[in-house]
Amino acid sequence: MTQASLVRLCVAALVYALTLLDAAAAEHKRVMILHSFGREFRPWNEYARAIRGELDRQSPWVLDVQEHALMAARTPDSNPEPAFVEYLHALYAGKPPELIICIGAPAAIFIQRYRQKLFPSAPMLFTAVEQRRIQFANLTENDTVVAVRHDFRYLFESFLAIAPETRVIAMVNGNSPNELVWQDEMRRELQPLEQRVDVRWYDKRSFEDMLKEIAVLPPHSAIFWFQMIIDGAGVAHEGDRALTRLYAVANAPIFTTDQAFFGREIIGGPMHSPTEGGRRTAAVAMRILGGEKPADIKTPPSDFQPPKYDARELKRWNVSESRLPAGSEVDFREPSIWQTYRWQIALILAVLVAQALLITLLVHERGRRLIAEVQSRQRMSELAHVNRFTTANELTASIAHEINQPLGAIRTNAETMALMIKSSSPDMSEIREIVADIRRDEERASEVILRLRSLLKKTPFELREVDLNGVVGETLEFLAALTVGRQVSVDRALEPGSLIVKGDRIQLQQVILNLVVNAIDAMSGMAAANRRIAVRTDRNGNFAEVSIADSGSGIPQDKLSQVFQPFFTTKEHGMGMGLSIARTIVEAHAGQLLAENDAQGGARFRIRLPLA
Ligand code: ADP
Repeated sequence: MTQASLVRLCVAALVYALTLLDAAAAEHKRVMILHSFGREFRPWNEYARAIRGELDRQSPWVLDVQEHALMAARTPDSNPEPAFVEYLHALYAGKPPELIICIGAPAAIFIQRYRQKLFPSAPMLFTAVEQRRIQFANLTENDTVVAVRHDFRYLFESFLAIAPETRVIAMVNGNSPNELVWQDEMRRELQPLEQRVDVRWYDKRSFEDMLKEIAVLPPHSAIFWFQMIIDGAGVAHEGDRALTRLYAVANAPIFTTDQAFFGREIIGGPMHSPTEGGRRTAAVAMRILGGEKPADIKTPPSDFQPPKYDARELKRWNVSESRLPAGSEVDFREPSIWQTYRWQIALILAVLVAQALLITLLVHERGRRLIAEVQSRQRMSELAHVNRFTTANELTASIAHEINQPLGAIRTNAETMALMIKSSSPDMSEIREIVADIRRDEERASEVILRLRSLLKKTPFELREVDLNGVVGETLEFLAALTVGRQVSVDRALEPGSLIVKGDRIQLQQVILNLVVNAIDAMSGMAAANRRIAVRTDRNGNFAEVSIADSGSGIPQDKLSQVFQPFFTTKEHGMGMGLSIARTIVEAHAGQLLAENDAQGGARFRIRLPLA
């Protein structure tokens, strides 16, 4: 075979394979679903939905699913049936469906009754039906069943196990032929329970009357919801309305047979599952569509699924989850605060953590600042101490003069006394006077030394209540020798009474001392007669003020702020630290030290301190 003919053969084979595949994919199967009561009756609508979903999922073929509803089953009047049969006959005359799925017992009974006329050979699958409702004798080779089994006794006992205090059970079931069949079944099965609970029936009532009675059930009651297709007054109740209305008035928990009703109104328990039913039905449908003989497919009826509960209803009726049988599923749990507000909580936590960190940092920072403050105050004290030494140096001459004076007087007095003692009749009263003078001069000298020592003492910064007038007075006393020596007149005008501030006496003395010494210096080039210092103290609101004004030439306007800077000096031997230290001291007292020029010339320094 040539290469070209080999290629041709392969292509032909491929085309043929594709055609076969395409034919399989395009194969259509017609499936008819017949409802018993209309398409929107729970639980069957849920079964139909699940079956359709599963058929689509499991089928390898394209399915043409057509649904019909046997409305006639809702009334005992079977007159419309022949017309419905005619309709189906016309619809499927030429081409019967490949499978008929009957949902619920009436549909199954209907098909069994009319199949000879309608679809003698079409396979039938009866589903969503309780096994007791199948007429097994009437089943043909073409029929199979996927049934469930209601075990009412087990169902009720399961409920009583979680609510053992229950005394009354209200039975909600309709009055259609189908529902009446079930009423008989339930009465029979529940008979043994009737010693324990009062089982109440309402089938003869209209649904409205039934609701009125159920709304006022005594405490420790429960409601069993079976179905409500036609009520005692002949009214049909389609859809979910009946159960919704029952739930709205119910004052007791509701339980039932089927998960199709589960999701709000039902507390839960063992129930049948539409999902499971759908899966089982579709699996059997596939086998039939695949060619298996229906009668050969035997499916045992399925029992209730493991119990399932609604957390909201358990909570509402105070049923503890610890009472639920082992292996129960609990749905609709209220999300925890964490689940609902996860992001918000995380955010708040993050903010809190950040805040805590920030606070820690600030506290740490504050601690460091406090330490720094203490250190700087200590340094200020040391610096002030050094500055006092410098000032003391300046005062040496006047101090020496101050001490010399009493010492000189003492010497003169001593010499006088020596002479007097030598005389034959010394005048004792004069001697006594001289001794008193000597003692006074000695006191004066030691006072000077004491003051100097206290000024030069190295003490830690300490705030105590002090009288500012007193501090000013002491300092001026101390400076008296200097002012006299430098021929400066000091004019003092102190606020009457005391001016109590919180302060360090020695440091405040130093500030005043610095200011007065600066004032004396500022007037050194002037005629002695014009050298005047005015010292005032005042009370000004919550502040005490000391003002020290001189009659010098003042501070040049552009230097007013500079004078407080360290090392700013205009003096030949000045250090330029006095005012800087003075301001630091005043500020450490929460006060202010201000410099200004007086209108009459001369500088004025003002110390403002908060009153204690
Ligand atoms: P120092 O006295 O060592 O110079 P200060 O800090 O005490 O240091 O003073 C700084 C400067 O401020 C002085 O050199 C002077 O120029 C100016 N000053 C201070 N007090 C007065 C005053 N009463 N009149 C004029 N100038 C002053």
